[in-house]
Amino acid sequence: MVLKDKVALITGGGQGIGKDIALRFAREGADVAVVDINLEAAEECAAEVKALGRKAIALKVDVSNSSEVDAMVKQVTEELGALDILVNNAGITRDKLLLRMEDADWDAVMSVNLKGSFNCLRAAVKVMSKARYGRIINIASIVGLMGNAGQANYSASKAGLIGLTKTTAREFASRGVTCNAVAPGFIDTAMTQAMPEKAQEALTAQIPLKRLGTSKDVSDGVLFLASDASSYITGHVLSINGGMYM
Ligand code: NAD
Repeated sequence: MVLKDKVALITGGGQGIGKDIALRFAREGADVAVVDINLEAAEECAAEVKALGRKAIALKVDVSNSSEVDAMVKQVTEELGALDILVNNAGITRDKLLLRMEDADWDAVMSVNLKGSFNCLRAAVKVMSKARYGRIINIASIVGLMGNAGQANYSASKAGLIGLTKTTAREFASRGVTCNAVAPGFIDTAMTQAMPEKAQEALTAQIPLKRLGTSKDVSDGVLFLASDASSYITGHVLSINGGMYM
């Protein structure tokens, strides 16, 4: 159990990659705060964590709202006794070609993906620096590294998250807090399953390992960065993309 008795907070933990990370961490011995704008989904995930024999709390939080986020960190530290690991996973897309993209599309994606991660990170790092221990993992994306037509807002938010990761790594290394990013490629989730079969085939053809990624592929990398096996790694961007972008 590489996370025995650690306390982890996962945003967007109600479904998809975030839920996989929450359950993975619980199986490795962590207590988990499952945070999501969708309370029902967060509660279901927290119940599954408890069924694995760990403590869990479910919280309804909009990560783009800094007062909700500050209250969230206070509640987690009071109820679970610490905050060792933060995974900034909550993210949204509002895809459109650049010339059709409206202010609202840009602002929504920036406020959840980038400002939301900043809000959580700023609140969590105060607790972590005091404890002189912390692991922060930001879920970026392959498109933050290579761009993608139709995702000006999303790719900019994920590229920004990589800059935020590196600055946090530099500012808090002396306090025992590491901060890294994971950049998943195309992962087999509801989002990619909704694509037409032809589009999925075209995508898979561009991936040297010839398959889409799974949530487990991503949580494997996140677990490594959350564990003490990565204690000399900070400011790194771990690509989990089957070789699609090197
Ligand atoms: P998903 O849509 O299945 O899950 C995202 C979760 O975040 C949902 O439970 C949602 O309710 C929650 N959420 C949305 N807005 C929120 C807010 N304002 N506050 C709190 N919670 C909020 O997405 P996923 O596919 O599991 O992706 C998870 C992360 O991985 C995202 O950051 C995404 O950008 C990134 N990512 C996904 C892929 C992929 O192929 N699926 C690839 C690269 C990166």
